[in-house]
Amino acid sequence: MADQAVSPEHPPTIFRKDYRAPAWQIPEISLDFSLDPDVTLVRTRLRLERTGDHDEPIALDGEELKLREIKLDGRDLAAGDYELTEEKLIIPVAGDTAELETLVEISPKANTQLMGLYVSGGIFCTQCEAEGFRRITFFPDRPDVLSRYSVRLEAEKATFPVLLSNGDCVDSGTAEGGRHWARWEDPWLKPCYLFALVAGDLAANRDSFTTVSGKPVDLAIWVREADLPKTEHAMQALKDSMAWDEQTYGREYDLGQFNIVAVADFNFGAMENKSLNIFNSRYILADPDTATDADFDAIAGVVAHEYFHNWSGNRVTCRDWFQLSLKEGFTVFRDQSFSSDHGSEAVARIGDVRALRAAQFPEDAGPLAHPVRPESYIEISNFYTATVYNKGAELIRMMKTILGEDGFRKGSDLYFERHDGEAATCEDFVTAMEDANDADLSQFRLWYSQAGTPRVRAALSHEPATSRATLTLEQKLPPTPGQPHKDPMAIPLKLALFGEESGDAIAQERLVMLTDPAEEIVFEGVGERPILSINRGFSAPVTIEGNRAPDDLAFLSAHDDDPFARYEAMQQLMVETIIDVVSGKRPDHKPVIEAVRRTLGDDALDRAFIAEAVLLPSESFIGDQMQTVAPDAIHAAREALRRDIGTSLEAEWRAAYAATSANAFEFTPAAKGLRRLRTVALGYIAARGAKDAPKLAFDQFEGADNMTDRYGALGVLANGDAPERVAALDIFYNRYRSDALVLDKWFSVQALSTRDDTAQAVAELIQHADFTFENPNRLRAVASAFGANQRAFHVATGAGYRFMADIILKTDKINPQTAARLLPPLGRWRRFDEDRAAMMRAELERILEAPNLSKDVYEQASKSLGG
Ligand code: ZN
Repeated sequence: MADQAVSPEHPPTIFRKDYRAPAWQIPEISLDFSLDPDVTLVRTRLRLERTGDHDEPIALDGEELKLREIKLDGRDLAAGDYELTEEKLIIPVAGDTAELETLVEISPKANTQLMGLYVSGGIFCTQCEAEGFRRITFFPDRPDVLSRYSVRLEAEKATFPVLLSNGDCVDSGTAEGGRHWARWEDPWLKPCYLFALVAGDLAANRDSFTTVSGKPVDLAIWVREADLPKTEHAMQALKDSMAWDEQTYGREYDLGQFNIVAVADFNFGAMENKSLNIFNSRYILADPDTATDADFDAIAGVVAHEYFHNWSGNRVTCRDWFQLSLKEGFTVFRDQSFSSDHGSEAVARIGDVRALRAAQFPEDAGPLAHPVRPESYIEISNFYTATVYNKGAELIRMMKTILGEDGFRKGSDLYFERHDGEAATCEDFVTAMEDANDADLSQFRLWYSQAGTPRVRAALSHEPATSRATLTLEQKLPPTPGQPHKDPMAIPLKLALFGEESGDAIAQERLVMLTDPAEEIVFEGVGERPILSINRGFSAPVTIEGNRAPDDLAFLSAHDDDPFARYEAMQQLMVETIIDVVSGKRPDHKPVIEAVRRTLGDDALDRAFIAEAVLLPSESFIGDQMQTVAPDAIHAAREALRRDIGTSLEAEWRAAYAATSANAFEFTPAAKGLRRLRTVALGYIAARGAKDAPKLAFDQFEGADNMTDRYGALGVLANGDAPERVAALDIFYNRYRSDALVLDKWFSVQALSTRDDTAQAVAELIQHADFTFENPNRLRAVASAFGANQRAFHVATGAGYRFMADIILKTDKINPQTAARLLPPLGRWRRFDEDRAAMMRAELERILEAPNLSKDVYEQASKSLGG
């Protein structure tokens, strides 16, 4: 199939090995925008500089641009002087330097892809990462071309009173016909994916920050006037982030202004454009009445993430998109550490691992598995994945574990110093870590190139006569698409031994580097029977398989001194119990119930931790542990265990509920923990089928002075069929119908429902007057939530699959990037029984047969079927 790469139905694959340095650099660019929603004119001047000795023409990317004028060194070019295709503008240039001027026309209002320049809620904004700049003007749209930007914006003054771009505003004035203009200059070299502009009727929450060396920075968060009161939390997070990056990494902010803009229509969470971060409004706007505690935490995390990119991403950027994890993995690690430092470390770690297991492990085990540094792609937007982001962050964390706190800091200092102002690679990062520490990370590098989640089998044996314990560790890395055979990895495992009788740590925590396929570790002086605590703190992103008996897991859940390991032991105990039921055994629920009882009654533990620990693992996580996922049986077994825990511990749940109820809203870690535990307790009381549960939930819903309690109660009601369910949904809808972000919750809670009729319910939801395919948040509130609802999505009729395929096809016409992100649940067909697998494949085939499929959906659907 040699011609596959060029035929129009099969878009070409880009390979990492084909990387070539750019033939031309563009040290300076000036952009002049005449903004109008229907027809915007962009005049661009580029200073071109040939790099090295070659005679290649300059090749610029451009998509959906109407070229109106083109001049080289001030001279108009004729049609024969250049080559213009759907995607490229190629111009032969005689000398080694030249000035190119183009004038293009674009239509922001018609831009539903939300890439390039578009209009959201009457506000002009841009999204250029990864390859959106080419939808604005002709330019070499690749991250290793770094330029100095000078930008002039002009727009109608009444409708677009605020004009923003990167850097500092150096001049502004009025123009004819009720228009005005502003000029912005960014002194820092940057790749075009970090360019941004915003124009609209916006109000600012203003504040300031003084950097460690005494430089003042003006901070502003721009939103619609009515939303100003909801920006305080984001502002606090921004100031905390700026201070944290100084203290933790020695990184100071480098401009006099830092602007954040919130928009309603956005493909992702937020974007780190230099000094002009643009956010999905859901990661800025919050107050206690409309945002849950989880929303508040997500806002702080994303604000920190985008701010941290100023160093890990902007000052040091990526050479090419295969290096995406260089900035994303590192920056996720940085935002996770920030959040951990501003709350409970254990709860933060549990949340990060939960997210990794929910999104990344399945990705690594399926047809879309790829290394943290991919070798090829068709559409780069498809590689903004949990593997690049979250597994990438785990790689950074492992290096820190291996090198220690100080060694890691030495490495990051060297990395920033060496590569400031450059476009770097993942390899550069690892090399800096090695050089600063005189360390050898050669085997560790396999984490960047080998896909798949390693499995580590751990078997502990004990010989009382010799007081010797032997731990055998074996690693296996499963094959993944394109990688049938793998080399053994370097896996940092933190482990300890506890004595069964004494309950004490009989071997203190140590770090073991597993580098061979199999290794043995001997512990001397182990008199009593030892119990193994392994992968403490989740020191490596692996799956541990072991011979730990339910009693040992129960023991660890009560005695381990690493809170993550306690949580983990409990989860494993729960998973094993449920899987035993699913596979026809009749395991005793008692060990789980007793472990929950003990945890619930342990006054030394904080409430937030208890709430996490007593929650049963999700249905999809349980499914991931099985050979063939049995959605209905998993649901039944999990519900039965929930009911049993609810019934057996009814008095405890009621006591916990009462003890967590009487608190007026406060935004402290302690108050958040109480709220979390409160709704978890409510859930167990409802699971038990208590008669008064719907009323209890409805009272919580009605009486709540905050969204966490209200939405928590709504979630409990939405899973049942009490009359209170319909009443609460109606009240919620009517109260919040004009608040888009809260209305998203109303859609989600129904798409996530464990009720039998959820597949029909979502089909009706997309007919609702407030549903739209054009706003990614609203679309995901229904479609992504439903795709994550294992039992409902996999309803035996196949209705869930058909629904999702229909949505993907419809969305593909509007917003291919967002459409492609809905595909992975359909791609997991190999994990299901034959009937389901056949229906899932049929939907993937139907998608592939559709005319004019985007590259985005084509790549995900074809890879999901093939190989
Ligand atoms: Zn990022």
